[in-house]
Amino acid sequence: MLPFNLTILGSSSATPTSERNPTSQLLCHGEKLFLIDCGEGTQVSLRRMHIHFQRIKHIFISHLHGDHFFGLIGLISSMHLLGRTKPLYVFGPPQLKEILDIQLQASQTTLLYPLEFRSTQAEKPEMIFEDELLSIISFPMLHRIPTTGFLFKEKPGERKISKEAIELLKVPVHLIPKLKAGADYVATDGTVHPNEMFTQPPPKPRCYAFCSDTAYFEEIIPIIKGADLLYHETTFMNNRIVNAAEKFHSTTGQAATIALKAGVKKLLIGHYSARYDNLQPLLEEACSIFPETELAIEGKVFEI
Ligand SMILES: [Zn+2]
Repeated sequence: MLPFNLTILGSSSATPTSERNPTSQLLCHGEKLFLIDCGEGTQVSLRRMHIHFQRIKHIFISHLHGDHFFGLIGLISSMHLLGRTKPLYVFGPPQLKEILDIQLQASQTTLLYPLEFRSTQAEKPEMIFEDELLSIISFPMLHRIPTTGFLFKEKPGERKISKEAIELLKVPVHLIPKLKAGADYVATDGTVHPNEMFTQPPPKPRCYAFCSDTAYFEEIIPIIKGADLLYHETTFMNNRIVNAAEKFHSTTGQAATIALKAGVKKLLIGHYSARYDNLQPLLEEACSIFPETELAIEGKVFEI
């Protein structure tokens, strides 16, 4: 199976703390590295974790609150100063392009590489990226300004060939792609050999859902249903549920309830308010509703 994992680069909300950076995550799928949000300090985190950031080709920004994108121009600039020539694709709200343009103009920076901007919208789900292995869908969250979550979904792979069966029945090599796609094998004498004799089903496609920032919002459930890993913000504990609603954020209990209702395999919580030094009570509160919960902590890697 291809590597598919998530590294936490930042897990704080609003302001950095001595222990935590604002939101940023690195998703690795096969050879590809996708950056999700880019709060202040993201490139420092990447360097500390010895991640070669020129390998990042696609960046996804959920919304324009500073704790989710104030690190972006710094990263774009460092990529330039370190001699990048390959294109960088940035997905985010339309105003982000204006912001980046003015930052580059004011500093009289002409990037050495193409910066390709793709606008997102927060009205309805939309497929924003697709290659042979993965599709990425943006979808609306419920926040103070237009905000999207992102769903990273593997495409179904090909069936796995059993070499022994192929050799035993002397299946011609040119028919193997058809067998991988699910076709039966018809021998020259007309005998039909069912596909299952030669192949095993492909591994189940895996899926990662990123949901930050948002108030409690059940409309996302059909989109993230059954995800292998769900990241959902938990800015506050349950005793601040009113505060959370006013600020269009979620509590631990709300994130866990979404995970439970969506039938995901594992929940990852993060985007913690700076008021919480000790995160254990947040974990315990979420686990009381959804036991398969873990804390997003800088440097931790989660397999999907
Ligand atoms: Zn926000």
